[in-house]
Amino acid sequence: MTQHFDFLIIGGGIAGISGASQLAEHGKTAVLEMEDVIGHHSTGRSAAVFIGNYGNAVIRALNAVSEPTLMNPEGICDSSVLSHRGVLMLLDEAGHENLLETYEEGAVGLEKRSVEEALKMVPILDPSKIASALYEPNAFDIDVDRLFQGYARLLKSRGGEIILSAPAMEIEHTDDQWTVTTPKGKFSAPILINAAGAWADKIAELAGIRPVGLVPKRRTLAIVPLPEGVDCSSWPVFESSGESYYAKPEAGKLLVSPADEVPVEPHDAFVDDMVLAEGLHHFEHAVNFSITRVEHSWAGLRSFVEDRSPVVGFAPDAEGFFWLAGQGGYGIQTSPALSRLTADLCLGRPTELPEETLAALSPNRFT
Ligand SMILES: Cc1cc2nc3c(=O)[nH]c(=O)nc-3n(C[C@H](O)[C@H](O)[C@H](O)COP(=O)(O)OP(=O)(O)OC[C@H]3O[C@@H](n4cnc5c(N)ncnc54)[C@H](O)[C@@H]3O)c2cc1C
Repeated sequence: MTQHFDFLIIGGGIAGISGASQLAEHGKTAVLEMEDVIGHHSTGRSAAVFIGNYGNAVIRALNAVSEPTLMNPEGICDSSVLSHRGVLMLLDEAGHENLLETYEEGAVGLEKRSVEEALKMVPILDPSKIASALYEPNAFDIDVDRLFQGYARLLKSRGGEIILSAPAMEIEHTDDQWTVTTPKGKFSAPILINAAGAWADKIAELAGIRPVGLVPKRRTLAIVPLPEGVDCSSWPVFESSGESYYAKPEAGKLLVSPADEVPVEPHDAFVDDMVLAEGLHHFEHAVNFSITRVEHSWAGLRSFVEDRSPVVGFAPDAEGFFWLAGQGGYGIQTSPALSRLTADLCLGRPTELPEETLAALSPNRFT
């Protein structure tokens, strides 16, 4: 027996669940997820930060459209999922002049900070390693769990279904219907949305669609305790200009990342101890204390195509196959904009994004 839907989504991460939550109001919608829970891969492993100036111009346009929804996620959650954090970028002598120029080119609202000001914000910094700093006030912690569960609740309240332990094994396109075979049975719909995260190119291949050159890149995070009595609750995220590490306050401790970007095959990502050790070494070099232990560490995949913009839109090489992939390191913070765009394009409605942003996101750019 095949179960029929209007919209079928492969992937129960934030892309698939948020996109499905917007579509379920307009037609019968199902999400197929290969794991036995949703959010097990990239979505459940993020650093949970929103940064207004993060990413290229396309990402920044998506950030700007997403921020008001995250601030007031009416219908998704009952209150804001953002709480103020800020980001302090630490510049060394070498990076100082160049970086100021690069950042000022497309970024808005950045404020220069002296070494003394940077130390007031993050007292554990070693001043001898800093030439100056840039502060981005428009940055927030995201309550990812509340946001993600909010999307899932909205989806279910609109009659949408999430089918777990349902990896897409075969995908066929006949008579304007996409049929996906899973261990839980066959599912079909005229529109198939590929929101399979790091696996999105594999899904395309399974469906006979040309891949877009998606490269999953591993990123590592670790929880590190601070010296006794140090209160980091009001510190911003702080990072080195050379992207050798970043750190973020997390429940009285620090979340530290080597800011690694190692290309890998899609898989259930795990920590490479050497990469983590190197990142922590860079971090220790920038602060005035030594790490005594790592409490917990994990890794996840950030998947990019070459131009580092997401791929969102109908595939040019088959009717009804929709890409929602390549969100890289910005998939949580851009989920409001990308989920609405997915619904608008699938329903043939006008979108809130300008033409040039649509073109920069479109899978047509690979042809
Ligand atoms: C360490 C790290 C830090 C990050 N920090 C941030 C941050 O601070 N802010 C931010 O905005 N973003 C951040 N990101 C990026 C963000 O997490 C991702 O962009 C986002 O989670 C991608 O969501 P997704 O739904 O596309 O992918 P995923 O969450 O990976 O979901 C894809 C789903 O597809 C499923 N799937 C795959 N193949 C199949 C199949 N054959 N059949 C059925 N299901 C399948 C998978 O099981 C998975 O659940 C970070 C990522 C990492 C790894």
